[in-house]
Amino acid sequence: MTIPGQFNLTFETPPALKLTDLSGIGKKTAERLQERGITSPSELLLFIPRKYRPLYRHVSGAEMLRLGATHVEFFGQVNRVNIPPRNSRAPVEVGLEVDGQAYKLIWFNMNRRSFTNLFDIGVWLKVEGKIDWERGGATLAHPNFDVIGRSEPERPAPQIRLEPVYKSMEGIGDKLMRRALEDCAARLLPLALDIIPAKILEQHDLPGVKEAFETIHMLNGRGESEGVEAFREALGRARNRLVYEEFYTLQTKLAHDYVTERRLARAPRCTERDLGRDFVRALPYALTGDQRAAIATIADDLGQRAPMRRLLQGDVGSGKTVVAFMAAAIAIGSGHQVAMMAPTDILAKQHFRRALEIFDGLPIEIGVLTGSQPAGERRAVLERLKSGESGEISDKRGVKAGTQELFTHLPAADSPRRIDLLIGTHALFQADVAFESLGLVIIDEQHKFGVEQRRDLLDKGSDPHLLAMTATPIPRSLAHAVFGDLDLSVIAEKPPGRKPIRTFLRDRAAAQKVYAYVRERILETGEQAYFVYPMVEASEAVEGRENVTDSAAELANGPFKDLRVGVLHGRMDAAAKDATMQKFGAGEIQVLCATTVVEVGMDVSNATIMVIESPEVFGLSQLHQLRGRVGRGSADSMCILLAGFALTDDAKQRLDSFTGTDDGFALAEVDLQIRGPGQFLGVRQAGMPEFRFADILRDIKLIEWARSDARRELLGDAAG
Ligand code: ADP
Ligand code: MG
Repeated sequence: MTIPGQFNLTFETPPALKLTDLSGIGKKTAERLQERGITSPSELLLFIPRKYRPLYRHVSGAEMLRLGATHVEFFGQVNRVNIPPRNSRAPVEVGLEVDGQAYKLIWFNMNRRSFTNLFDIGVWLKVEGKIDWERGGATLAHPNFDVIGRSEPERPAPQIRLEPVYKSMEGIGDKLMRRALEDCAARLLPLALDIIPAKILEQHDLPGVKEAFETIHMLNGRGESEGVEAFREALGRARNRLVYEEFYTLQTKLAHDYVTERRLARAPRCTERDLGRDFVRALPYALTGDQRAAIATIADDLGQRAPMRRLLQGDVGSGKTVVAFMAAAIAIGSGHQVAMMAPTDILAKQHFRRALEIFDGLPIEIGVLTGSQPAGERRAVLERLKSGESGEISDKRGVKAGTQELFTHLPAADSPRRIDLLIGTHALFQADVAFESLGLVIIDEQHKFGVEQRRDLLDKGSDPHLLAMTATPIPRSLAHAVFGDLDLSVIAEKPPGRKPIRTFLRDRAAAQKVYAYVRERILETGEQAYFVYPMVEASEAVEGRENVTDSAAELANGPFKDLRVGVLHGRMDAAAKDATMQKFGAGEIQVLCATTVVEVGMDVSNATIMVIESPEVFGLSQLHQLRGRVGRGSADSMCILLAGFALTDDAKQRLDSFTGTDDGFALAEVDLQIRGPGQFLGVRQAGMPEFRFADILRDIKLIEWARSDARRELLGDAAG
């Protein structure tokens, strides 16, 4: 699936023009262009200058000096010629007088004979080249020049203008590029369609597509006479025009999806609230204001014929899960099924256990489906998605399907009750998973999934509602760019009584002290600790990174000899992972040495200490997710980074921001700045196109414009 957004020229009928049809481009050049990904003339137009640099033309010798001009064109008169003898390595030197100032031209390793008769004292030259101010005075090495003659030429008016500079490609000089581009523009641009309505362009003071490209490539005299400042402004508008189009294309698609889904409006209306009310009443704590607000909005959405498309954002530990369970209770109370998807086995099973606990005593049948389940168990779960008295609610808590391994005390399927809530991993959107009446899809840690996967799951019902959740706090405008089709709810408030997680950066040299401290604290308080490592095993390929296998053994035999140490990583089989998680959850394991499998969602509130080894390896958002595993109860929590090697400036900056705040939104902003949106979001993951021109950080204003314009075009003025 390609995602719309990346800029391309649009034509009524695509012109059958080949690169080699363009002036100056032969087979060889065309091949070189192709190597750079420029395979057609219209792509050549999209190859925009890397930068623009000022060219000083016929500015006086003194002015060039004063302005520190580098790229220049001027007349000067020869006053000194030094052609060294044959065997000398000294360069050819020609002294010039330029309006009373001394300039010097030099050539190294040149065929001297060709110079011998060119420069007589008193001759005028037209020079074009680059001044090197470092060589002592104004020196131009290997400039272009024309010999004019002995009479002083008439000098054009002085001018400073910009020149486009393209990323250099072997064998393709500026002149050739220019010639090809001029030809290409003349033949293609008149045929190009402008897909942005004229009134929108006018409203934002943006040029049409043809003008934008002419400006950017400085064609048809653009940039020649209007002065540098005015032209820079025109360039800015031209660039914005192309960026805007990328956003507009994407937002139009998103708005279109949004409208289509709402127009069909065949979502199951979930208006029955009793079960939800019972659920809230049974909670062991009071919901926070933000949780209640989110639930109210979601309940309202669920009651509509238009399917809900909502993204619930909240920092780690803000309590999103209970909001999701509440949504589930409403959907289930209204007679529909709910699918809840999590990115890892561990998290899916944790949700499953939590659901069992939290819905205990309520008439809700819960099942779990992961990739690691035995085939027979899986089959049983799938059957129980369909079978039975649909929607009928009994008050008998039935058998939890798919849980023999976890809940052996429950009798195996003695009741055919239909599963109301199915919790699982990627296993959920496999083809053979079919629901009887899927009313709500919940996706936890939504940034770990792609849009297609979201789609696949939604397709298992007829326009079911969607609640997506993420702890990667994306700035609102960015969320609009990426998830323009989703409505947004934010939980900003944390449950009461949470204390900030004190965070420290320590050198590995102090590791033994840290271990001793952790041990003492565990023995004193009965609390638990995570130790996180970037690697499963030692690897020669990446030295200097701690690994969980060796480290856990060292800890267990050394400083933590009298503690119960467990190991958890992705290469363990599911049953072993499960058993370890269970033991950690039950407090039987005191120190859990793990890889980043614990990054998402893990919730063991008695764990209060997190030690992260080789923390420089992780991104900020990931560190924050990891740290979010502690600070989940009311006890004091801490996070210690044990950095082993001399840190790069980048890493130092990152780790310092991290120790400085535990506000996920603030960290996300920093992370976004450091890594750029592509990496921050995982471009493909998030379902965002790789824009050709847009930079969603810098161009946030344009995103907002494009979003509201696209919605207005589609929905009329009523759209927000
Ligand atoms: P996240 O938003 O990271 O998914 P969770 O849903 O896992 O967070 O919640 C974190 C912890 O906070 C859980 O142990 C949960 O039981 C607890 N919690 C959630 N809401 C509240 C609340 N209103 N008051 C007290 N504790 C809460
Ligand atoms: Mg969570």
